[in-house]
Amino acid sequence: MTSTQRGYDYRWQKARDRHLRANPLCVYCAKVGKTAAASVVDHIIPHRGDQALFWDEGNWQSLCGPCHSSVKQAEEAVGAS
Ligand SMILES: [Zn+2]
Repeated sequence: MTSTQRGYDYRWQKARDRHLRANPLCVYCAKVGKTAAASVVDHIIPHRGDQALFWDEGNWQSLCGPCHSSVKQAEEAVGAS
């Protein structure tokens, strides 16, 4: 791993923690009337390496682990088609 990648990871970790503190609940669960603590910050639009999209806080959403897994599986299914 390069130092650039480490810095990037650290910056993301801090940004993610800040977002989770401000948005502590899973947005998917909230939509169906459930309350779950979010543990993941997901990109609403997959950034696919796009830095502008990656760091756009308007493109972030808090998800719990199970919702994040289901989103990622859905995206992978789309990508495979
Ligand atoms: Zn959830």
